[in-house]
Amino acid sequence: MEDKFDCIIVGGGIAGLSAAMMLARGNARFLLIERGEFCGAKNVSGGVLWGSDLARLVPNYWEEGLGFERFVNHRRLTFMDEQSAFSVDFKSRHFEETPYAGVTVLRSVFDAWLADRVQEAIDASDQAEESFMATDILVEEILQEDGRVVGIRAGEESFHSDCVIIAEGVNNLLTRQIGLEKDYVPDTYVAVGVKEVLKLDERKLMDRFQLSGRSGLTNEFVGMCSDGVEGGGFLYTNRDSISLGLVLGMRDLRDKKKTPYDVLNGFKEHPAIADMIAGAETVEYSAHVVSTGDIRGIPSEIYTDGAMIVGEAAHLLLNAGKAIQGMDYAMRSGILAAETALAAKEKQDYSSSMLSNYRTALENSYVLKDMRSFQDAVHLLHQEQMFGAIPNLICDFGRQFFTIDSEPTPKASSMMRASIKRHASYWELVKLGLKGARAI
Ligand SMILES: Cc1cc2nc3c(=O)[nH]c(=O)nc-3n(C[C@H](O)[C@H](O)[C@H](O)COP(=O)(O)OP(=O)(O)OC[C@H]3O[C@@H](n4cnc5c(N)ncnc54)[C@H](O)[C@@H]3O)c2cc1C
Repeated sequence: MEDKFDCIIVGGGIAGLSAAMMLARGNARFLLIERGEFCGAKNVSGGVLWGSDLARLVPNYWEEGLGFERFVNHRRLTFMDEQSAFSVDFKSRHFEETPYAGVTVLRSVFDAWLADRVQEAIDASDQAEESFMATDILVEEILQEDGRVVGIRAGEESFHSDCVIIAEGVNNLLTRQIGLEKDYVPDTYVAVGVKEVLKLDERKLMDRFQLSGRSGLTNEFVGMCSDGVEGGGFLYTNRDSISLGLVLGMRDLRDKKKTPYDVLNGFKEHPAIADMIAGAETVEYSAHVVSTGDIRGIPSEIYTDGAMIVGEAAHLLLNAGKAIQGMDYAMRSGILAAETALAAKEKQDYSSSMLSNYRTALENSYVLKDMRSFQDAVHLLHQEQMFGAIPNLICDFGRQFFTIDSEPTPKASSMMRASIKRHASYWELVKLGLKGARAI
């Protein structure tokens, strides 16, 4: 065996495993290092993997039916005040076609499954004896010589490669080490994600959420779910469990002196949620930092001589109200970085000018295009009215509209006027409406 790999991947999350799959298929000689006991052991996610890239990595994955929990054919967005919930609900047969538009996943299961598929690809490659995935090892240092990345150090051991793909996730310490990320990342670029997995008998779950076969529901929440803190909530159905959680602004939590755990408990007690999780038992609780999707969080550059940064290590994530897209961005960026590494191998040129093709490919992909297009929506979501006045106003209107009380019924327009008067001003609404129309 030669003493140098074509590529070393740091991190066996979605970005790292996606890169590994492409490298194995391209017959590259690579080493993937994951600090967890197994791939997925350290990973948290609310759990919808959007888009169709999974089918690119594992064609027809739905036939085997392993790895994912449910495909999403039912989506709901709910506005909450203290006592009420007003939802926009959409269910469609179109979402039942393969490749699915979204699947719910539990990361400890999904990442381990994907790692097994990568191992199969390694076994089938020309480098079956010379490519490896190693777990339970922490990479402590990115090795550099004359300003270019040449490998990694883990404990006493050093490994060298032509190129390193850094897929270490949002706490991007190694990315900072090589100077691509500032030591100080403003707290508005990151949020706190908290999540519980609640176990519920599969039959009960299917009846409760009107699911059939492997179909599933995603529900996003805005308003009282976050107890006045900037952020929102989510509920996703798995096979026999529910993922329930919140993403909360770090600065706002601190300023309002609230803890994520207390806010989550309050969310669970909301009448709309309490009914959905009744009888379910919490089997997992986790908390993790997550990018807010602010494009200013992306490191100064996502490549350098001999290295590329992928996934959330590069703050690639979009949360513009409709969904959290971090896993699909991790997948696509891992794929694009691996394709760039394979092209660099072909030319034996791992210079930053060659690796800049990764940046170009990402700019031309939906990842950076959408992050750029929807920045206004990302910022709009963080405005105080979005988690206070607006959901309160919508629920107030809903309460009037759906009340039938043997009294003369006002027209919907006058109900709306009354709600606006109670919760906002016309001027405020016009400004928000204009911003909203431009943002989405
Ligand atoms: C509560 C919550 C809900 C979310 N919901 C969704 C959702 O519904 N849909 C969605 O698309 N996204 C969601 N996200 C975001 C999504 O989870 C991330 O964007 C995605 O996991 C990023 O993938 P990644 O591979 O870049 O990083 P990660 O998944 O974080 O993987 C990084 C890997 O690198 C390993 N690692 C780190 N440092 C080292 C080191 N020094 N040496 C060796 N290994 C190392 C870690 O152990 C880990 O396995 C959510 C996040 C949170 C917190």
